Amino acid sequence: MSDNKAIALTSDVDLDAPGKQTGFVHLPHSVHRSAYGWLPMPIASIRNGHGPKVVITAGTHGDEYEGQLIVSKLIREVTPDMIEGQLVLVPMTNFPAAEAGLRTSPIDEGNLNRKYPGKPDGTMTELIAHYVEEVIFPGTDYYVDLHSGGSSLMYLPSMLVSGCGNPENQKKGREIAAAFGLPYVLFSDSDEPGFADMGAVRKGAFAISTELGGSGAVTPDIYAMADQGVRHLLGHLGVLKGNLVPDSAPAEPRVMWVDPWAHYVYATEPGLFEPLVELGDAVKAGQDAARINFVESPGREPVTITFPGSGLVVCKRVPAKTRRGDCLFHLAGDSHDKLLPA
Ligand SMILES: [Zn+2]
Repeated sequence: MSDNKAIALTSDVDLDAPGKQTGFVHLPHSVHRSAYGWLPMPIASIRNGHGPKVVITAGTHGDEYEGQLIVSKLIREVTPDMIEGQLVLVPMTNFPAAEAGLRTSPIDEGNLNRKYPGKPDGTMTELIAHYVEEVIFPGTDYYVDLHSGGSSLMYLPSMLVSGCGNPENQKKGREIAAAFGLPYVLFSDSDEPGFADMGAVRKGAFAISTELGGSGAVTPDIYAMADQGVRHLLGHLGVLKGNLVPDSAPAEPRVMWVDPWAHYVYATEPGLFEPLVELGDAVKAGQDAARINFVESPGREPVTITFPGSGLVVCKRVPAKTRRGDCLFHLAGDSHDKLLPA
């Protein structure tokens, strides 16, 4: 609970109080069917003794479900005696988007992961970003934002660390990735200020995110691996103890670098996307990536799109219907001039 007058939202969960609390952040929503109503954004705080503050969010994009399951399971299972420090859990962070099963909010079209630091007098999505940055993030030691590919993309199970032009972030990222144990860790030097992880970094946290499958569905083996990985990471950070902490991380991560110029492939024409490689394939610069087919134009030959660089296919577009400018694939590489040796 904040008495800061600049905070437009209220919550029945007091983040300063000890013990386990579950409740809602109230998103004011005055509409025809409910003049004085609010929308309920679920939140839980489990606080006990002294230790790090760890914040885990999911549903930053509403159609990414593995993280929403992991966070809601933690809310059900973690009790205060298992905690040293504080665990703050938000399973549907852009609540209107998550309720609707959409990437962006049906209320204001807002993409929460582009809206930080938000505004205290902004649109619904800006109000949520402002609340998370100004009420939830202060005092946070570690922030985990659980993403997946959503309806339009499918990813290999990966942990992501931004700001890795800074060698200290790479060092810390390798430590966290080994504890999380997803098969891939993707470093980049992205520092886009509208992203949630950068909001947490502004408040002094070390922040990571994930890509856990996607396709608007839940992939059971990726869900199981990530669920185990999150609990192993919480044990490693010292905030979670007891039998929810697995003995070992699920996997030894492969450390890779994502280059925004060499690794992304976009549709150059609208049409039907015919992939020529699969997730997990190793590809070379100049190799054929996809054909765009023009079924509506009899006799028109498909256009072939090639990879601008070499690497591993870590992300692939799902729907065949494609417009010019849609991302079809992205790659990650084992070597890059900014990637430090292990
Ligand atoms: Zn996402």
